[in-house]
Amino acid sequence: MLDWSDTSPSSAKNSSPPPAPPSSAGIGLGEIDRAGGRVSVDEKRMINCRADVNQLLPLKYKWAWEKYLSGCNNHWMPTEVSMQADIALWKSRDGLTDDERRMIKRNLGFFAASESLVANNIVLAIYRHLTNPECRQYLLRQAFEEAVHTHTFQYIVESLGLDEGELFNMYREIPSITDKAAWALKHTQHLDDPDFKTGAPEADQAFLRDLVAFYVVFEGMWFYTGFAQILSLGRRNKMVGVAEQYQYILRDESIHLNFGIDVINQIKIENPHLWTKSFQDELRAMLKDAADLEAAYGRDTMPRGFLGLNAALCEQYMHFIANRRCAQLGLSPVFAETDNPFPWMSEAMDLKKEKNFFETRVIEYQNGGALSWD
Ligand code: MN
Ligand code: FE
Repeated sequence: MLDWSDTSPSSAKNSSPPPAPPSSAGIGLGEIDRAGGRVSVDEKRMINCRADVNQLLPLKYKWAWEKYLSGCNNHWMPTEVSMQADIALWKSRDGLTDDERRMIKRNLGFFAASESLVANNIVLAIYRHLTNPECRQYLLRQAFEEAVHTHTFQYIVESLGLDEGELFNMYREIPSITDKAAWALKHTQHLDDPDFKTGAPEADQAFLRDLVAFYVVFEGMWFYTGFAQILSLGRRNKMVGVAEQYQYILRDESIHLNFGIDVINQIKIENPHLWTKSFQDELRAMLKDAADLEAAYGRDTMPRGFLGLNAALCEQYMHFIANRRCAQLGLSPVFAETDNPFPWMSEAMDLKKEKNFFETRVIEYQNGGALSWD
């Protein structure tokens, strides 16, 4: 039975020492500190912060706030993109080769579940431990964008009349996709332990590993081969609606990736003791493993390859991207220096620099057309 007379948590009846502050205090759900001073910028920290995380202002990390604004400026919905040309092509008998169909289906299957894995990691693992309100503001925006991306795959499945069970189960049933999802899940499962909390170096490194696994590897490496596969079809005027949606997803993901890199680098600046030589080697090994998993996925999804795209080029692209991610994190490269086999990918990304995106989009939709590829 509840005892209504006892209003104090550290009741005099109980002679044991007062309980440690609840772990909810640092994450924003603790008791309100009525006597506390106002938050100053200097007190704000990426992890293990004691300043009130319920106050957005004063801003400390302008880069996080700017990414939140950029994300909002890029708003789009998959249903705004016409699928008519894709539906006609998908249903035509010889518009696509069997190899192209295999690649498209596995690509969609990979993304369909991956967007949910990324979203779950943000909400269930990262949000709690990232103790900064402007970063959390971005995480909330990113979480919604991941919902839009998952919606995109639902819309594609519905438009093309694909087998939803086949596509959404690929992350369990196609080994080259399962291997990637399982690799990333290892790192988020670690944080799912109810007793997990940051503060000790090993725990803070586990948090960094999760950030690297999801932001740098999942969104920053694996998604990029996926984009290259579909955008290379789009360049040949095939599946132009899906390709247009992938261009919007790529624009979102390039901000997700850069946010993740900034978060990791800021944690590193504030906690230099975490960035040991052995930890750096461990992260480099993670990026190398991830590139190997991607090479296996490339061979599985494109056993023969087609015009301008094959497993060997995708592997080279992964080596190029992995080295680039290493440089962004201040790590030495993991592969021999190589050229970017898909220089057109950076043009596809330039979409985000167009100031008149929304005007362009309205005109494009009225025409029922796709984005220009040249
Ligand atoms: Mn996404
Ligand atoms: Fe993302």
